[in-house]
Amino acid sequence: MPQPDPSEAPSTPPWRLLLGYVRPYRWTLLLGAVLSLLTGAAGLALPLVARTLIDDLGHDRSITGALLAMSGLVVANAALGALGGYVLRYTAESVVLGARRGLVSHLLRLRISAVDRSEPGDLMARITSDTTLLREVTTDSLVGLGTGGLTLVATLAMMGFVDPVLTGVTLGVVLAAGTVIGVIVPRINRASRRAQDAVGAMGASLERTLGALRTIKASGAEHREEQAVHAAAEESWRQSVRAAKWSALAGNTAGLSMQVAFITVLAVGGARVATGAVDIGTLVAFLLYVFYLMAPIQQVVGAVAQYQTGSAALARIEEARLLPAEPAAEPSPLPRPGAEPAAIAFQDVRFRYDDDLPYVHHGVTFAVPPRGMTAFVGPSGAGKTTVFSLIERFYDPEEGSIELDGRDLTDWEVSALRSAIGYVEQDAPVLSGSLRDNLLLGNPDADDGEVLRALKTTRLDSLVDRLPKGLDTLVGHRGTKLSGGERQRVAIARALLRRPRLLLLDEATSQLDAVNEAALRDTVADVARTTTVLVVAHRLSTVTMADRIVVMDAGRVRAVGTHRELVAGDPLYAELAATQFLAATDDGLKT
Ligand code: ADP
Ligand code: MG
Repeated sequence: MPQPDPSEAPSTPPWRLLLGYVRPYRWTLLLGAVLSLLTGAAGLALPLVARTLIDDLGHDRSITGALLAMSGLVVANAALGALGGYVLRYTAESVVLGARRGLVSHLLRLRISAVDRSEPGDLMARITSDTTLLREVTTDSLVGLGTGGLTLVATLAMMGFVDPVLTGVTLGVVLAAGTVIGVIVPRINRASRRAQDAVGAMGASLERTLGALRTIKASGAEHREEQAVHAAAEESWRQSVRAAKWSALAGNTAGLSMQVAFITVLAVGGARVATGAVDIGTLVAFLLYVFYLMAPIQQVVGAVAQYQTGSAALARIEEARLLPAEPAAEPSPLPRPGAEPAAIAFQDVRFRYDDDLPYVHHGVTFAVPPRGMTAFVGPSGAGKTTVFSLIERFYDPEEGSIELDGRDLTDWEVSALRSAIGYVEQDAPVLSGSLRDNLLLGNPDADDGEVLRALKTTRLDSLVDRLPKGLDTLVGHRGTKLSGGERQRVAIARALLRRPRLLLLDEATSQLDAVNEAALRDTVADVARTTTVLVVAHRLSTVTMADRIVVMDAGRVRAVGTHRELVAGDPLYAELAATQFLAATDDGLKT
């Protein structure tokens, strides 16, 4: 399955994205940077004091003052360093939190069509793993570049002040090293991007594997799945090692350049001392500066290398943020559906799931008045589930219109539209959590009386009595496993608790035993007196009691009518009624 499309790759440069994430925390970041700078300044003053100390020694003066100044600077250096480190880490963690919150909010609002084309495991890696890399990029890159750069300039300025000739020599060596590092840096970016993509691929493989572990075990396919996950993990390892290699090379090029600078300064400086151009104290001070140049240079090179990893992560985060989302549910001037049962009408709806996929609806037309039950029947793949997906506005038709209460669906606020609908999707899941959480998912305000009634009408009350903690029993993952039929009844109870104006049941009773199915049929008939109910069903018993039946085949509505009319008038329906419906009734004793 394709990932977020690289052709939609963010055109915003990574550094602007980074500044966007950092903006809310700019003042703490500034504070941290200032503290780091002060730390550097305290360190920077040390050679000057050292020079005074050596001078004092040479002229037999007391060194107490110089010693006190030195101790003060050392303590200030440590204290400011600790405080600055804390403030910076605090800021970086806040940046990670901000990015995670933004990304999660966006992903929960994704259009279903975008979800169809994404790997959940990879998206998860973008939220958990890629955002973590923003931590280092905030502290090490942004602050490192800022403070390291400033310290570098300040140190060079001090050096220029002490001896311009030796400074020129040092700069020459540093620039040569910079050129080499400039060649290395893009390789770090490429390897980092591949490493992070591999982490995403590993997430995707794992999600597939763990989500279907029973089938994988039953198929004896553990080894193959293992290899797929290992391959992704190894690719991430390979690329990370490659990035580390280039980073190390860049870091050591910087280190080496400083050693070379030290030796060169020693040689050139020694000659200058011999000719009397500078005194020995100046040379010592200068050599100390060369030594002090090491830290900011390493910091800047580290920042640049780290930024390459960070910008790969920023690009991956931004790709996920560019996936199309539904508009946020803000108060809108669009009308909210009223409390009356809804009328729904399809007019010449043409729809396909993607531009490169065949049409699934080739002009679907039908109209359902308020109240009553309408059954959708037809061979699998006819487009029945798609009808419900379009009503929920998970997708929008390419041509034609869908109207609710005579108004186009796009004229309703999406969240308001959905709040009017109770939808039991085909193979509706039970979420992990308590049974109560599952029931109240769509209506957290339902009171105990309503819950009790929903349990009774779906005949879940006896199940709740049997469960060790009743409604608070954990179900789903890491909880009591429910049978297929029980899951379906939980899903129906959940939908009923929304007090819907339109109830959509997609093969919602397919796994119920005959007794429970009959009970549910009565419940649905009861609901249909006050609510518009659309059902996709395969059981003759359910279909025959519908007020109208819509027969679909290959993306078209073949016929609409009652059971009696259709048996006489539509050959496909007559055949379905004779074979499929009856077969479904026969195996109606599963749970
Ligand atoms: P039914 O519910 O009648 O069995 P569906 O509406 O589920 O049929 O599917 C109709 C057609 O659309 C099928 O050919 C199916 O493969 C295709 N389809 C369903 N969902 C998607 C999707 N998310 N992406 C691409 N194709 C899909
Ligand atoms: Mg279906």
